[in-house]
Amino acid sequence: MNCNEKTIEKFDKNVVHSYGRYPLALQKGSGRRCVDENGKEYIDFGSGIGTNSLGFCDEKWADAVCAQVRTLQHSSNYYYTEIQAEFAEKLCSTAGYSSVFFGNSGAEANECAIKVARKYSFDKYGKGRHTIITLVNSFHGRTMATLSATGQDVFHNYFFPFLEGFVNVAANDINDLRAKLDDTVCAVMIEYVQGEGGVNTLDKGFVDEIYALCAEKDVLVIADEVQTGVGRTGEFLAGDHFGKKADITTLAKGIAGGVPMGACLMNEKCSGVLTAGTHGSTFGGNPIACAGGLAVLERITEEGFLSEIGKKAEYIKNKLEGCDEVVSVSGLGLMIGITLRTKNAADVVRKALDKGLLLLTAKEKVRLLPPLTVSYEELDCGLNILMEVLKE
Ligand SMILES: *Cc1c(COP(=O)(O)O)cnc(C)c1O
Repeated sequence: MNCNEKTIEKFDKNVVHSYGRYPLALQKGSGRRCVDENGKEYIDFGSGIGTNSLGFCDEKWADAVCAQVRTLQHSSNYYYTEIQAEFAEKLCSTAGYSSVFFGNSGAEANECAIKVARKYSFDKYGKGRHTIITLVNSFHGRTMATLSATGQDVFHNYFFPFLEGFVNVAANDINDLRAKLDDTVCAVMIEYVQGEGGVNTLDKGFVDEIYALCAEKDVLVIADEVQTGVGRTGEFLAGDHFGKKADITTLAKGIAGGVPMGACLMNEKCSGVLTAGTHGSTFGGNPIACAGGLAVLERITEEGFLSEIGKKAEYIKNKLEGCDEVVSVSGLGLMIGITLRTKNAADVVRKALDKGLLLLTAKEKVRLLPPLTVSYEELDCGLNILMEVLKE
């Protein structure tokens, strides 16, 4: 029995089988490369689903996290900590928001957004204006509220009853939006690029229409930037590509470089909605997570960092589009979906794994979410493996 297998056996005996896992046990990583327990090396084009934004164990990030562990690892939210204050200030100023609520995951950030939207409307208009429009094919998380918000039927099984008050509109269908945006609606929730739904970027005209209609009716726009935010698309927020700033933006995944953290950013209009006792999280804004987040923000806001992401994305796209098996490449920045001509995406991911490349899928596409710090040498290395698999 090799080392991977021992871990897998122990793991599967004790951990719930709620994931279809690949048969490897990762042991350690450095930069954009990691090794499994048998010493086999992999290039990482998945970033732990977009979380390890600076790659594995980035030195400055690790120093910041470890220093915080040795200083103050947790404090309840009944007290103030400087690290949370500092992170909140830099996050709000970088993203252009008035205030933030911290949780520990994307789903929690979205739960907060849903609560803020409903209370904003309740405070101003009273009961009955609670519907949140979400898009078909969206993904907003695995809690009951965020599952209810998620616009994919495959997620609406087993766990009945789901929450009321979510209505789905077809992405890019302005007429469908107009028809459903009635007087019961308090918010429209979107991903500028649907991640789990297949790396689909919304049309600019559709986004413009959402903002125009919502402004007219004092309906809030919630941008779920859990996957697209914090530099992933080459702008700090994907909304920047559209020239839009949502009333509420949620972040998680890459925000703290691989430490659990979720954030719900609010503009001035929404900042007073959550009053003492209306929302909370024991771990939210945990000092270790904030230290990780601050290290990520410091790197991402360095001169030239974000524009480099756009260049790398172009480089990847050009290479991929030269491959016969590739029908099209979707996404923004380092959030990339690849539509294949004949091959099955999951097969491609498994074969690439054998050859030492970690990839993801999104629906029928192969998905790439490389660390934002990926080098051209690493891109070449990984793309060569991918091309090899695609040409087989
Ligand atoms: C991953 C994801 C979530 C859920 O985040 P968790 O941290 O798994 O709860 C929500 N929305 C989007 C767009 C995501 O990509």
